[in-house]
Amino acid sequence: MKAIQIQKNGGPEVMGLTELPIPEAGEDQALVKVKAAGVNFIDVYQRSGLYPVKLPYTLGLEGSGIVEKIGSAVETLRVGDRVAWQGRSGGYAEYAAVPADKLVKLPEGIDFPQAAAAMLQGMTAHYLAVDTYPIKKGDTVLIHAAAGGVGRLLVQIAKRRGAQVLATVSTEQKAELARKAGADELILYTQTDFVEEVKRLTGGTGVNAVYDSVGQTTFLKSLECLSRRGILVSFGQSSGKIDPIEPAILGAKGSLYLTRPSLFHYVADRQSLERRASEVLGWIARGKLVLHIGEKLPLAEAAEAHRRLEARKTVGKVLLIP
Ligand code: NDP
Repeated sequence: MKAIQIQKNGGPEVMGLTELPIPEAGEDQALVKVKAAGVNFIDVYQRSGLYPVKLPYTLGLEGSGIVEKIGSAVETLRVGDRVAWQGRSGGYAEYAAVPADKLVKLPEGIDFPQAAAAMLQGMTAHYLAVDTYPIKKGDTVLIHAAAGGVGRLLVQIAKRRGAQVLATVSTEQKAELARKAGADELILYTQTDFVEEVKRLTGGTGVNAVYDSVGQTTFLKSLECLSRRGILVSFGQSSGKIDPIEPAILGAKGSLYLTRPSLFHYVADRQSLERRASEVLGWIARGKLVLHIGEKLPLAEAAEAHRRLEARKTVGKVLLIP
């Protein structure tokens, strides 16, 4: 089978298309014929070495497809089931062996590209808005990189929960997309000081929560945007690693809260995975959450997908089609 396997860490050039044997499904696994693989920023970190992985490594932590074989101990799945997963490597390939307890069956009305676009970024947007800081009616929140994969979904969920949404993006084109997703106020953080804009838009009060996936370039300024006892949800570092901070800074700026959540801990057991996935996929099937698949590229163009993601050229979800 064809797969994108890296032999060493580095730039996108390490992502060659390789011929590998089709993986064996272990006794508690299913062999999935991959129909769509999600590209996520975490794949960039794993490729570059920022997040260490054991080499050689087949990239891709999200995908959807059809069950072709099941291991002897698997009772919850059948050959032919339409499934999706996240949090297990090997997605950038024609076949993946995935533990059965990571696989979610797709409901009617969800196709493979939608499923691959929803599992990681959709469930992330869900836990951030519903559990990490449960957004409530009347809140004002700031969402960075609002035209991105997680960003666009988070904007929609925040709006549905009744918040006023302030959003940052780098270009006018991205501003338009974030506005379409429901953002009330757009800030081009590449051109204006977003702290000043947030202060102006909130009459000096600040926001209840900042959702910050950008990291290095925004982190300290995000703290400045919070109202008293507000919360900074720092869930990514697309611009680079965040420098250490002195906890006392949180007190000085208004008894702030800081959390650094990970999807892994919000879908750690089967029950939470099923609940969250079925809610997200259900919203999508009913049109309550609109996915934006920005690009679908052939598997062989995975390196180009990474180049575009790192160069801030993508909007919404990027998929690879084996
Ligand atoms: P995005 O689609 O949001 O792409 C990243 C975006 O970040 C860019 O489009 C860009 O938007 C913005 N950005 C700002 N500065 C930079 C920079 N220097 N280089 C590159 N991008 C920059 O990606 P995802 O939706 O896949 O992921 C967003 C973030 O969330 C990532 O950091 C990811 O690791 C994290 N994440 C965390 C999870 C968790 O559970 N903690 C789960 C899922 C994702 P703009 O041009 O508008 O500035």
